[in-house]
Amino acid sequence: MAIKKVLKYGTKSLREPSKEVHKVSKKITDLVNDLLDTMYSQNGVGLAAPQIGVNYRVFVIDVSTGDEPLNPLVFINPKIIKKSGAIVSNEGCLSFPEAYTNVRRYKNVMVKALDRRGRVFTLEAADGCLLARAIQHEFDHLEGILFIDHCVNRFETDSVLQKYNLPPIEPDKLLKEPYLENELDD
Ligand code: ZN
Repeated sequence: MAIKKVLKYGTKSLREPSKEVHKVSKKITDLVNDLLDTMYSQNGVGLAAPQIGVNYRVFVIDVSTGDEPLNPLVFINPKIIKKSGAIVSNEGCLSFPEAYTNVRRYKNVMVKALDRRGRVFTLEAADGCLLARAIQHEFDHLEGILFIDHCVNRFETDSVLQKYNLPPIEPDKLLKEPYLENELDD
């Protein structure tokens, strides 16, 4: 299909919630292929549709590394149906070139979604593995939430954003996460 331009932080549509997919039509499978092509072209681990300017509830992830075979995972209309535990994760995002910062995440998640053929599947990712964190990161994109909204230290995160000429944190978007904060304090 095609490699698309990845929208950068500061673009308004990255903050907009995405629409449910009503039918896994050719339009949606084309979107999935564009997401995969674009993600692989940038060596990303995940990419969500709003990052290429399409506000539908679709994202892709591939956590394979090195000479492992590619393992593209496609999530359409995903729902996180279980989450537990807490972990601090150093994350980046293709919409924030080169900027990495520490964010709070759940350690374990279970997600239910449709695959690219429209079949329901559930997937569990545990122990704060890359897949568990990527699912939460990409799911957030569908809600207009960005990884920096989960930051552990807003001042550190702001200085990283400044270093890479990205707009500052939006204070009203910072998330209150009492469960994660308490778990991490223990
Ligand atoms: Zn991202």
